Amino acid sequence: MVNTPSSTSDSEIAIIGTGPAGLMAAFELAKAGHPVTLYEKRPGPGRKLLIAGSSGLNITFDAASLEFAASYRESSPQFSRILETFSPSDWIAFIERMGIRTFKGTSRRYFVEGMKASILLKTWVDQLLAMGVRIEYQQECVGFEVTSGGVLLQLQKENVLASRSFKAVCFCLGGGSWEPKETPLRWPSLFKNQGIEFEEFVSSNVGFKVDWPAALLKEAEGLPLKNIVLQSAKGARSGDAVITSYGIEGTPVYFAGVLGNVNLDLKPDLTESQMLQKLENVRENLSPMRRVKKVLQLSPAALALVFHLTPKGEQADARLLVQRIKKFPLLLTERQPLAEAISSSGGISWNEVDLSVERFLMLRRFPGVFLAGEMLNWDAPTGGFLIQGSVSSGHVAARSLSLFVKNSG
Ligand SMILES: Cc1cc2nc3c(=O)[nH]c(=O)nc-3n(C[C@H](O)[C@H](O)[C@H](O)COP(=O)(O)OP(=O)(O)OC[C@H]3O[C@@H](n4cnc5c(N)ncnc54)[C@H](O)[C@@H]3O)c2cc1C
Repeated sequence: MVNTPSSTSDSEIAIIGTGPAGLMAAFELAKAGHPVTLYEKRPGPGRKLLIAGSSGLNITFDAASLEFAASYRESSPQFSRILETFSPSDWIAFIERMGIRTFKGTSRRYFVEGMKASILLKTWVDQLLAMGVRIEYQQECVGFEVTSGGVLLQLQKENVLASRSFKAVCFCLGGGSWEPKETPLRWPSLFKNQGIEFEEFVSSNVGFKVDWPAALLKEAEGLPLKNIVLQSAKGARSGDAVITSYGIEGTPVYFAGVLGNVNLDLKPDLTESQMLQKLENVRENLSPMRRVKKVLQLSPAALALVFHLTPKGEQADARLLVQRIKKFPLLLTERQPLAEAISSSGGISWNEVDLSVERFLMLRRFPGVFLAGEMLNWDAPTGGFLIQGSVSSGHVAARSLSLFVKNSG
């Protein structure tokens, strides 16, 4: 490793990470007139945003402020304040001002036109460059310390290590999910080594393993369980799930999935007695299972579940069959790993973060060091809450950082 002498940067502020949180923080600080440099360890910006875009970029959700903040579960008090300063409609207006159209889809989710992230990312980065923000790629931040002059960063590019000094820094390093196995995440040790409380990352918004019999998979792998409700100790959530080779995934699973026993309501729009009535109304002399197939309009995947996982004795009894369709038992044996998860729970503890108005999102014990985005210990369901939480916290951290720099002269 080659060490270069430490130097004061031309920029007074460094932002580390070019995800939605970092890009939003850079915008807000440049708009307030601060010289800003963005550092990114990868060769280009916004890797996870681009990945999110590959499955239809869902930017936010249509919900009243209380319901929206409640989606951040234990972190909802912090997010009530964050979203008050930069709300879902502020975020939509921000995107539209860049000339990118947005629309509300069927399940209250907002998307960018075309549903891809690449145009949004390119336009956003171009706008930052036009505002004078410097962006340096392949620069990994591997250390920081607070000095009398501000914050000293160690930045590594290939095998050259440089130290640069800034008045303040905003770390926007992201969560623990979807990281390639060959390059495991290194930033948590940067903070843990300084004694900062860190909750280990656990996969979130992820599928679960189920031991499917081969005959079921042969018939139903990849098929959707349309409009079901998954009920667990964590709550109940309706939507579409998918039977996969390893188990089950989809919105109801991400939201209400827990290790152990859960129940599926495979026909939420009918009560047990309504279903029984329909089965009894069939004139032909058919078995209860064939009646189910004929009149209940279950999706092929739901029918396969009922057929392959219901004991034959129960299949012959219409009442038991109907009870099972309303409360289909499923054992979720394992959470899919972090590398396959949409997000992570865990990160830097809120106990470490100043929540006062002037220093909101600054590390209490490291004046001038601010945090934003998924690296903080919060989690939320998919549906646009993750990107919204990242941009809103980036915006808020940038505001208090700007105040901090102005007040410290
Ligand atoms: C498959 C998938 C689909 C998703 N779909 C959606 C969706 O539709 N809607 C939604 O709301 N959310 C979605 N998400 C989640 C969303 O992408 C993230 O919540 C969001 O990108 C987090 O933003 P962030 O800025 O906090 O972190 P990130 O976007 O992860 O950015 C962090 C950046 O920091 C850089 N970095 C890390 N360490 C260092 C270091 N030491 N030095 C320099 N740079 C560093 C990283 O390379 C990265 O570019 C999805 C995620 C995945 C994986």
